[in-house]
Amino acid sequence: MERTLSIIKPDAVSKGVMGKIIDRFESEGIRIVAMKMIRLTKKEAQAFYAVHRDKPFYDSLTDFMSSGPIVVMVLEGENVIAKNREIMGATNPKDAKPGTIRYEFATDVEKNAVHGSDSPQTAMEEISFFFSKYELIGTER
Ligand code: UDP
Ligand code: MG
Repeated sequence: MERTLSIIKPDAVSKGVMGKIIDRFESEGIRIVAMKMIRLTKKEAQAFYAVHRDKPFYDSLTDFMSSGPIVVMVLEGENVIAKNREIMGATNPKDAKPGTIRYEFATDVEKNAVHGSDSPQTAMEEISFFFSKYELIGTER
């Protein structure tokens, strides 16, 4: 069993498609073991996306990610890190396959509806960025 961090980004929340996105995960048999709606400050968005701090899109991305509420979730399932990336589709919706979340709901390469961890290491770090063990259903404590 694997866990991964998923974020419904401000564009998707403001379009009113968070229910549809959550439905995609549930329909695929993925279990949601933690979920909350929050709004990041600019500083928090910068910290979350620190790996991209030298990219030209960093400032705009962190403005966008702190522009409105987001939904952060921990997804659980077999191979869920790769499975979620597949369901999400390519970073740029122009390259995303029909049927993927980004194909259906993204606006552009920045406002692309969802985030998903890309490896077991980043999944662990990103989950603990947002959640304590008390908020993760089924975690031994
Ligand atoms: N992003 C952007 N411009 C780009 C590439 C990425 O604004 O040219 C944004 C986009 O919101 C993306 C996020 O930065 O989801 C993180 O980029 P990454 O390459 O990690 O893509 P992801 O893992 O989200 O598919
Ligand atoms: Mg990434």
